[in-house]
Amino acid sequence: MAEKRQAEKEKEPRCSFCNRPASEVTRLITGAEAYICSECVKFAWEILQEESYIEVDTTIFSPPPPKEIKQYLDKFVIGQEEAKKVLSVAVYNHYRRISQKNKDLKLEKANIMLIGPTGTGKTLLARTLAEFLKVPFAIYDATPLTEAGYVGEDVENILLRLLQVADYDIERAQIGIVYIDEIDKIARRSDSPSITRDVSGEGVQQALLKILEGTIANVPPQGGRKHPEQRYIQIDTTNILFICGGTFSGIEKIIEARKNRARMGFSPLQVESTENSKERSQDVQPEDLIKYGFLPEFIGRFPVIASLHPLNKDHLVRILTEPKRALIKQFEQYFAQEGVQLTVLPEALETIAEIAIERGTGARGLRSIIEDTLLDTMFLVPSMTDVNEVIVDRRAVLKEHPPIIIQKKPA
Ligand code: ADP
Repeated sequence: MAEKRQAEKEKEPRCSFCNRPASEVTRLITGAEAYICSECVKFAWEILQEESYIEVDTTIFSPPPPKEIKQYLDKFVIGQEEAKKVLSVAVYNHYRRISQKNKDLKLEKANIMLIGPTGTGKTLLARTLAEFLKVPFAIYDATPLTEAGYVGEDVENILLRLLQVADYDIERAQIGIVYIDEIDKIARRSDSPSITRDVSGEGVQQALLKILEGTIANVPPQGGRKHPEQRYIQIDTTNILFICGGTFSGIEKIIEARKNRARMGFSPLQVESTENSKERSQDVQPEDLIKYGFLPEFIGRFPVIASLHPLNKDHLVRILTEPKRALIKQFEQYFAQEGVQLTVLPEALETIAEIAIERGTGARGLRSIIEDTLLDTMFLVPSMTDVNEVIVDRRAVLKEHPPIIIQKKPA
């Protein structure tokens, strides 16, 4: 019996690399004159990855000057002049640093912290930068990290996201941009409701420190939690640019307290009118973020802090119509495909902006207001043959009547 099995095994095809028979490997792939098992494929792939890792510094990446970067951002992002300028310079320096051959002269890596209300363009800025530079871009929400150690995710999953976007091209991932949203959720909270779970965020900040600074991280290819038997993909985070964003609600009180302290020390300065400060970006200093609940070492990894201002009605109207992918342009195109002209009157644009301001979600709420206004029309128009134009006025946005459908004059 044993002899028979042995004889069968000898007849089996074998991997031309490790010589193991088909029955001992997960999968045997047949080539023209050879075989390769899945294990050897993986091994070979790892060798290639290591080689590409060694080559990473040869990626000479010469970024466009800050002025050009800002001009590109201007096409997509309305307002936020200060943030656009700060980002253009920071990103230019970051990629200059990568192409800097002389390691001794290398500038320190400068990750970026964006602070501002919801829907004011934090994610859009980061995404537009990555598009312009043609580097992989991944967005990661920091919230699941706060429960790391229990049911949450390990920080390496952030890098997995980038790797996936880069189609597992490690070399490209290593010069990518990661946007970590809701970073304020990992601030230490003294009023933590539970002491049994690591919701303090401090542990997460510690874990993030290394990858923010630059390290060779072990990334679990399947995501989730790390475990000892798993094989990891190694990613060097030295040249990955991390942009973190958050609303940091309540930070204005910390800023105000700091300013008051400064005023007490010196001659009383003019107090900003609240009306003005509402539309101005906050003057956030590293110490404010530390007070907010971040470790000084963590904030130290963010030499660049930029604030975004809230968007007013004028900004929102411009956002609706001006940027390259402006919402109104998109809807006009949709109707044009049906052979119909869409006209959104200026009064309607203003009303849409007013509703968005009331909702307090910045520009994020604009799309749903338009969709809401046009849903019935979008439902009807494709099955009508005689429509020339659809006009949206103020009352249509307020749902006091449907958008006006102008029909073609009979021939
Ligand atoms: P957040 O600041 O919360 O990250 P986002 O950048 O995700 O906000 O904005 C949501 C959407 O609103 C964007 O995709 C974009 O369409 C629009 N938007 C927000 N801010 C601006 C802006 N300053 N200029 C142009 N569009 C904007």
